Amino acid sequence: MTLQFPMLVDGAWVPSSDDRWINSHEPGTGEVWAQIPAATEGDVDRAVMAAHRAMRSGPWSEMTASARGEALVRLSELVSGHASVLAEAETRDTGKLIRETTGSVDYVPAFYRYYGGLADKIQGHTLPSDKPGMEIFTYREPVGVVAAIVPWNSPQMLLAVKLAPALAAGNAVVIKPSEHGSIPILEFGKLVEQAGIPRGVVNIVTGRGDPVGNVLTRHRLVSRIAFTGGPDTARTIVRNSAENFASVSLELGGKSPQIVFADANLDSALNGIVGGIFGASGQSCVAGSRLYVQREIYDDFIARLIDRTEQIRLGSPLDPDSEMGPLATREQLGRFDLYVGSTPAEGGRVLTGGGRPVEPAMGWFVEPTILETHAKGIRAQEDEIFGPVLAVTTFNDQADAVEKANATQYGLAAGVWTSAVERAHQMIRALSAGIVWVNTYRATSPVAPFGGLRDSGGGRESGADAVYDYTSVKTAWINSSDEVVADPFKVQ
Ligand code: NDP
Repeated sequence: MTLQFPMLVDGAWVPSSDDRWINSHEPGTGEVWAQIPAATEGDVDRAVMAAHRAMRSGPWSEMTASARGEALVRLSELVSGHASVLAEAETRDTGKLIRETTGSVDYVPAFYRYYGGLADKIQGHTLPSDKPGMEIFTYREPVGVVAAIVPWNSPQMLLAVKLAPALAAGNAVVIKPSEHGSIPILEFGKLVEQAGIPRGVVNIVTGRGDPVGNVLTRHRLVSRIAFTGGPDTARTIVRNSAENFASVSLELGGKSPQIVFADANLDSALNGIVGGIFGASGQSCVAGSRLYVQREIYDDFIARLIDRTEQIRLGSPLDPDSEMGPLATREQLGRFDLYVGSTPAEGGRVLTGGGRPVEPAMGWFVEPTILETHAKGIRAQEDEIFGPVLAVTTFNDQADAVEKANATQYGLAAGVWTSAVERAHQMIRALSAGIVWVNTYRATSPVAPFGGLRDSGGGRESGADAVYDYTSVKTAWINSSDEVVADPFKVQ
């Protein structure tokens, strides 16, 4: 019998109110392995109302900031204690390798701990009043009901960067996970109550983007939308926010450049390039999907890169020895075929990969692929594919590298490989991206802000400042003078 995972609404684990379910596929086999509820508009409304109630009355609204922080620390410990269940759920549901989900889930507790520690350090200010006898100060209050919209590619981590600061600041949350990655979030949700977070504070509604995400992001009682996903959905959400004037943060995709200078440690660069694009089968917002190599080392470096790429071991996501897993959805396969297939006609060529592997025979696997894209206008070099496809070309000097790297509407991340410290600083300043990694790639931390520019979205997740995005400022004025308040109609 197919496993069924109910959703969390107002502290209860429930099916959708019309008892409709959506099949969830296991990308490693392509087979259905479980079902999740297809929430109705009414279910979404119930979840938002529960969050709204939890904000206004009851134990959560009365909890001190320190107690909220302690609950987050307990949650971090519970995630650690259940790491293997959570990692396996993410692997089965999304096809991400068990070695990757284990690493990611092992790091998730650090985010709940970090924001747990910040909960009682969210402070207002006493302002230097310009009016004698008048005290002015500010409070930082929770903003209200937060809608957290999470994609499938790293669901538990991308939830943590939203949920942890939202709860630290005292908000209540309605989570809408991707229909392709709901089960790890539902498994995580079981820990929320155990952490002592009261009923209704965290709700999880599952189902398709439309209607579930649509109804949620338009809801009149939602005050803040934290979204990670693609640009088309982001545009819909921004339009929806015209209904409730919720503040919106957008963490979108990228077409991030990696730049290898001739003076770099090429062994490190090789590992950084391979991990940057083929990690998570390229289904990472910060995938280093464009590679620029300085002309004098291009041929040798690309030959080594092809050799290393062809050794990548594809296999079941549940096998700890697999080095690259499948794509997460059948639609992603079509996207891979489209971009790789059109490259030769557009003036590029396939250096390695480009098709389906012989082994594994089942599941949504594609080969790790390198395309040479010297010509302009090759779509695989310009658009986010969200798969294991690397577009490579040369550059002449530093100015040429900057110009080529910045020639994109995206602006999420960039990688620079060089041993010259002055060049490193110059490149950090010159690259138009929210994150620049030098001699490393894909490093993240709860302490480090994360986010992009232009089509990569706006706003920053992680870091201490992110918690303020989940607060609103209340300004208080107190007249502390003994004098009678002036008669408004008497000229002084
Ligand atoms: P989508 O934009 O399709 O989906 C993201 C989330 O939005 C899912 O939960 C989806 O639900 C939901 N959604 C879909 N339609 C709506 C709607 N009308 N209203 C509200 N919510 C909706 O992105 P993908 O799932 O394809 O994720 C990949 C994208 O995410 C890539 O572009 C990637 O770069 C980006 N990303 C960005 C990151 C960052 O931090 N900057 C990190 C990771 C990924 P459902 O899936 O059920 O339709």
